[in-house]
Amino acid sequence: MRKKGLIRTANLLPRLWAGLSGGIGQAVDVVLGQADEEDRTLYLVGGGLRDLMLGRGQMDIDLGGEGEMRSLAEAAAAALGGRWLEHRAFGTVTVEGQDFRLDLAMARAERYARPGALPRVRPASIGDDLARRDFTINAMALALCSHQRGQLLNPFDGMGDIARGLVRVLHDRSFIDDATRILRAVRYETRFSFAIEEKTLALLKRDMAYLDTISGARLQHELVRLLAEDEPEKGLLRCQELGVLAAIHKALRFDDELAVAFRRARRAGQAPPQPELYLALLGTRLSPADAGAIALRLALSKRQRQALEGAAELAQLLPWLSRAAIRPSQVVERLETYPLLAVEAWALAAQQSAAGEKLGRYLAEWRYAKPSLDGRALARLGVARGSLMGGVLRLLKAARLDGQASSRQDEVELVRAVLAGRVEVPGAEAGE
Ligand code: ATP
Repeated sequence: MRKKGLIRTANLLPRLWAGLSGGIGQAVDVVLGQADEEDRTLYLVGGGLRDLMLGRGQMDIDLGGEGEMRSLAEAAAAALGGRWLEHRAFGTVTVEGQDFRLDLAMARAERYARPGALPRVRPASIGDDLARRDFTINAMALALCSHQRGQLLNPFDGMGDIARGLVRVLHDRSFIDDATRILRAVRYETRFSFAIEEKTLALLKRDMAYLDTISGARLQHELVRLLAEDEPEKGLLRCQELGVLAAIHKALRFDDELAVAFRRARRAGQAPPQPELYLALLGTRLSPADAGAIALRLALSKRQRQALEGAAELAQLLPWLSRAAIRPSQVVERLETYPLLAVEAWALAAQQSAAGEKLGRYLAEWRYAKPSLDGRALARLGVARGSLMGGVLRLLKAARLDGQASSRQDEVELVRAVLAGRVEVPGAEAGE
């Protein structure tokens, strides 16, 4: 099926210029002027060109060309009062000004010493640079200057695949060389409502086990990028269907109910949910031991790990939380020991249950409950500082939450009852 709204080759440059304004537009102008002066060609490459063809707004501008990029970056930084930074290992230079950031990449070829390893790179032609890329739709270049201006390099018919809506690898060993492309394929497929091309799909299934060759950090990076998509549940459902999640870890899974919870998460917040909340939702399906193993496999950061493991641990509290007889103060006491993201995830995942209702109330109101009387007011009433005061504050908070003290006066009376020995304070040391 041919996609609607595709931009014709002749219209690509006008479209590009129309979309470039402010600092980034000026930076591109200077860089292209300098390239012309040096008599070399610069290209728009990768995702930026793909998105331009698809007529998508908000595109990244990645420029590439043959040879060192330093002189171009220097010229742009000098003209616009910005600075530039070279990443030698990748052959890229970044120019940054107040309101722009531009990446310039030296064309390079890659060789994989073994599956999953980071490739060895060497300077190469623009053709070699396109040949090292993941999918045909990302393996095109549009010349922006010199006599080649406006020429499209499309050696793998990426443009045809964009028109057909297909994600296709460039060669049969692609997923073996770099199995992160498995996750990338699903990401593009679901983001653009494309299909993974038939042979590519067969290769993806054949080479699924090569996910084992990928380091935790790289896997995590691609998974988090999937979670940062507008509708990550689409990619995760597809990963589940293809067996990608199980290949990452046998216990990792996704289902329709979680997809509903993902959508709820987006409706509930003003900003798009953080990937960590989605990770916590994934944790609701895991045992604590599996969550720990997955956190290790994906080299999760502390915050990510706490979200995933916290949600897995909180699962054990759900039967208790669904009991009718427990008091709000008991709920607060228990839930305060879990990461907030884990509680939020379970509130979304178990929304329609008795436990979910308590989690929702905890998040919306109970966790903010505070007694009217503070430490100073308690001291004035004659409560000694130390563990007794701590205990009285907890008691007052619980009384607020459970409806036993609804005014400042109720609290004062409760304190007097404590001091008179008529009410016991849990956790306070005797003699204070
Ligand atoms: P997005 O649109 O999500 O920002 P992108 O298409 O710009 O993604 P990046 O991950 O930023 O992709 O990478 C830039 C380009 O580098 C891609 O378009 C692709 O050509 C190439 N690339 C990135 N990762 C790989 C990979 N693992 N294997 C081969 N080529 C890759």
